[in-house]
Amino acid sequence: MGRLIVVSNRVADLDKPQSASSGGLAMAMAGALREEGGIWLGWSGNSGTENLTRPELSEIDGVTIARLSLSDREIDEYYNGFANRTLWPLFHYRNDLAAYEQSFRDTYTDVNRRFAEALRDLIEPDDVIWVQDYHLIPLGRELRAMGFTNRIGFFLHIPWPAREIFITLPQHAELVWSMFAYDLIGFQSRGSLQAFIDYVSTDLNAVPSPDGAIDHFGRSLTARSYPIGIDPAEMASLALTDAGRESYERLKDVHQGRKLLVGVDRIDYSKGLPHKFAAYSSFLKSNHELHGKTSFLQIGQPSRSRVQEYQELSEHLIAEAGRINGHYGKLDWTPLHYHTQSYDRAALAGIYRAADVCLVTPLRDGMNLVAKEFVAAQEPEDPGVLILSQFAGAAEQLEDALIVNPYSDDQCAAAILCATQMPLDERKERWRNLINSVTTESLTAWKERFLCDLRGKDADGSTQP
Ligand code: UDP
Repeated sequence: MGRLIVVSNRVADLDKPQSASSGGLAMAMAGALREEGGIWLGWSGNSGTENLTRPELSEIDGVTIARLSLSDREIDEYYNGFANRTLWPLFHYRNDLAAYEQSFRDTYTDVNRRFAEALRDLIEPDDVIWVQDYHLIPLGRELRAMGFTNRIGFFLHIPWPAREIFITLPQHAELVWSMFAYDLIGFQSRGSLQAFIDYVSTDLNAVPSPDGAIDHFGRSLTARSYPIGIDPAEMASLALTDAGRESYERLKDVHQGRKLLVGVDRIDYSKGLPHKFAAYSSFLKSNHELHGKTSFLQIGQPSRSRVQEYQELSEHLIAEAGRINGHYGKLDWTPLHYHTQSYDRAALAGIYRAADVCLVTPLRDGMNLVAKEFVAAQEPEDPGVLILSQFAGAAEQLEDALIVNPYSDDQCAAAILCATQMPLDERKERWRNLINSVTTESLTAWKERFLCDLRGKDADGSTQP
C-alpha cells in the first residue's frame, strides 16, 4: 500500500496535541496520520523569505512534517485574503462580507502552485494524496499539470453553499473546473453534497450517478458526504485527567445549586454568538424565577484578529456581555461569564462535563466538533443536554439534541428552558442515542471511509469494482 500524503493550510503541533491552537481540522488530521504514517505538508505559520520553495522537514511519531513559509504578501492575500475574506464568508452564506479582489485570487493560485512545487520531490508513484479544505481547492489541478497521476482526494471541512450564493463568486466556474482534477471529493454533510450536485447539474449539465460519480471535463470525479467525527474515548478520558478534573471541580464549586450552560466557539460570525447572547437575554427576560438559578459560561476563542470583521465582532460581544450582566446581574449572581481566551483540550473536557447544557448555535457550520466533544465528555448517569443549530452539519447525525433555529431568539430561549428542566430519564435516553452516533461515526471511521474510497479499496483491502 502506498503512503499517505496529507496537505493542509497549517500543520498541527503533533508534539503538543492538547493545545487549543491545534483546532478541529488539525486534531482530526493528527490522529489520522499517526495511525497511517506518511507525510504532512502545510504552512509553518511563519512569514519569511526562507523555505519558500523547499519545505523544512522534520519527523514526529513516524510522520514526516514538511513546513513551508509564506511571505507577508502571501499571508495577506492568500490566507487573510482569498481564504478568509472571500471563500470563508461566502461558503458560510455571508456573501455580503465576501471581498472579491483580483489580487487575492491571483495570490491564492500562486500559493497553491507553490504547495504543488513543494510536493514535487516528495511524491512517489504509489502515494495517495489527501488535500484538506478551502485554502487548497486548486492544488489537485496544479499537481495534475505537473503530470502526477496518483489518486488525489479533497475534503471540504466547511459548508458548500447553495448554488445561488456560490455563483456570486466571480470565479465560480474556474474553481469548480479545478475540482475535477480530484478523484474523490468529500463534504461534511448531505446538505453540502446536495448543494454541490445542484451546481454541477444546473451549471454543467452533468448527471451524477447514484454512487456520486460525475463525468465532466474529460475526468471522472466522485462526490460523497463523509461527516467528520471525534475520538470519543479520548475526550471521555481527558475529562478525568488532573486538568479535566480541576476545571470540572472549580465550575461545580462556583456554580453550586445552579444550572450551568456552556458555549465554546471561535469568535467568528458564522458561530452566531450575538444571536446566542440575544437568546439567553430573551430567556432571562421571560423566566424571572430562574434568575440566580442559571449561569452561562461562554468561551470565545480569539480568531483571525487581523481581519476587521472579527475585531468588530469581538468588541460587540464584549459590549453585549456587559449589557446583559449590567441589566440582570445581582450582588451574588453574574448571569453571563464571557471568557475571550483559549483553553486546552483537557480543561475543555472538564468544562463540558460540568455543564448541564451546551449551546451550539452556529448560523452555519460545516460540522461543529464541539457538539460531539460535549456528548463524549458527559457522565452516563447524569448527562447534560445538547442544544444544536439546525444549520450545523452535526445536526444530521445528532438528531436527539434539541434542534433549534439559531435565528429565532424565542425558539432558542424555549430550548434553554426545556433543557434546564429536562427530567433525568429523558436526558439519559437522548444522550444514549447521541453517544451511539458519536461513537459509530468516529474520527477513525471517517478517515477509513474516505481513504478506502480514495484508494478504491474496501475496508478489508479488496479492490472495489
Ligand atoms: N477548542 C480548543 N480550545 C478552545 C476552544 C476550542 O481546543 O478554547 C477546540 C475544540 O475542542 C474543537 C475545536 O477547537 O475541537 C473547534 O472545532 P469546531 O468544529 O467546533 O469549530 P471550528 O473552530 O473548527 O470552526
